[in-house]
Amino acid sequence: MGLFAIFATIMANDNKLQNIIGHCKEYGFVFQSSEIYDGLSAVYDYGQYGVELKKNIREYWWKSMTQMHENIVGIDAAIFMHPTVWKASGHVDNFSDPMIDNKDSQKRYRVDHLIEGFAETLAKEDGDAILQQMDQLLAASDFAGLKQLIEDRKISCGVSGTCNWTDVRQFNLMFSTEIGSVAEEANVIYLRPETAQGIFVNFLNVQKSGRMKIPFGIAQTGKAFRNEIVARGFIFRMREFEQMEMQFFVRPGTQKEWYEYWKETRMKWHLSLCISPDKYRFHDHVKLAHYADAACDIEYDFPMGFKEVEGVHSRTDFDLKNHQQFSGKKLTYFDTDINQHYIPYVVETSIGLDRTVMMILSEAYEEENLSTEEKQDSRVVLRFPPMLAPIKLAVLPLTKKDGLPEIARELIDQCKPHFKCFYEEKDSIGKRYRRQDAIGTPFCITIDHQTKEDQTVTIRYRDSMTQERIPLAGVKDMVMDKIKMF
Ligand code: ATP
Repeated sequence: MGLFAIFATIMANDNKLQNIIGHCKEYGFVFQSSEIYDGLSAVYDYGQYGVELKKNIREYWWKSMTQMHENIVGIDAAIFMHPTVWKASGHVDNFSDPMIDNKDSQKRYRVDHLIEGFAETLAKEDGDAILQQMDQLLAASDFAGLKQLIEDRKISCGVSGTCNWTDVRQFNLMFSTEIGSVAEEANVIYLRPETAQGIFVNFLNVQKSGRMKIPFGIAQTGKAFRNEIVARGFIFRMREFEQMEMQFFVRPGTQKEWYEYWKETRMKWHLSLCISPDKYRFHDHVKLAHYADAACDIEYDFPMGFKEVEGVHSRTDFDLKNHQQFSGKKLTYFDTDINQHYIPYVVETSIGLDRTVMMILSEAYEEENLSTEEKQDSRVVLRFPPMLAPIKLAVLPLTKKDGLPEIARELIDQCKPHFKCFYEEKDSIGKRYRRQDAIGTPFCITIDHQTKEDQTVTIRYRDSMTQERIPLAGVKDMVMDKIKMF
């Protein structure tokens, strides 16, 4: 690709991201938090359609884990946890990122993001070389070396344009708050930075009360909080976000097999979202986290390039062993098959719900040119998989009179216990179809005068925009069949 073509691609992708953000606001998917107060950086609210989309993705993940695997159960642990949990997990000491500040602009950067951003501006070979060098320095926690690299390559601050940098330092990403009334002695506690620890501390409760036999998993979805220093990329990187995590407890020595199993199983899940394989790749970690003996990311090709959407980590017995040590409570499991007590090893899959929403939006969003020789025309359509669409069926009477609204209402009453419907009688049918395209509704039903005569309706398909007549009585079952998750 020539330089111009590379530049054009970057611009197009940047525009696409901006257009998605604009579309999400205009159509009630995602709003900036506290917008009337000029917003709160890297915090977002979901609107009426965003919340449905997010809920559907969560439900699909939840059922894939807890319904489709007999040996996985779910829990819902509290956000607040005993402060020692985060000592035991290593977060108090290790949950930090190397940062560097520009002395002129006072802007703080995550070192890896700064170098990655610079690498993207280079030719591929040079960019890869610098990233490899960065990985090695990060793996060795060589902060002086990282600063040297930034200075040697004259990487400058995007705001001040200068290379006047502080030393590289570590910053902890956990938010803290206080628990207890003012009168009492207040205790500092943390807002959980991951949901996983709620599973670890409940491992024995679930194992015993559920009579679970290893291998088995515990799944959970819920909020997590990280004081991300560089928070950008819309809902890709937020300070308050939701995770969907599953910890799979296995016999020590079998973790590598289970790691491979979950890598493959999770990739299959991603492909089941109707996303083509070339939009995904695995990224194996060079620098392993303090708890892992193998780890990889599943990356998706977002408008801003390939980025992590999910992590699969072989966490060894690190967490349970440390919780046993810090709590003084035994966390071993008795394996009747081999007559041995041991602390299980853990393979975890950890996916960000908001990042998945962004992935589904990026994949679904399309600006389609429909111009013909006679007239200019275009539409924005969200091609969601029907099972994830916020609204499954729109029912549109052609006119507001002649008993057509009554028939439409009857159809909605029949369908709404089963899936989310939308009723609208205002504006021309064409305009109403386009509004449904923009929120990703896969099926529109039009009730017209012929319906009264022969009990048929027009169904209009979002993706192909084709229309056909089908029996009114068959609509509910047809939609139910198309939105099935499994
Ligand atoms: P990153 O390298 O992007 O900061 P991470 O490796 O720290 O992510 P994990 O700790 O493995 O992420 O968390 C698991 C998943 O949680 C990630 O794959 C991502 O989808 C999601 N996630 C993590 N941090 C954020 C965030 N700040 N905003 C939204 N989602 C996040």
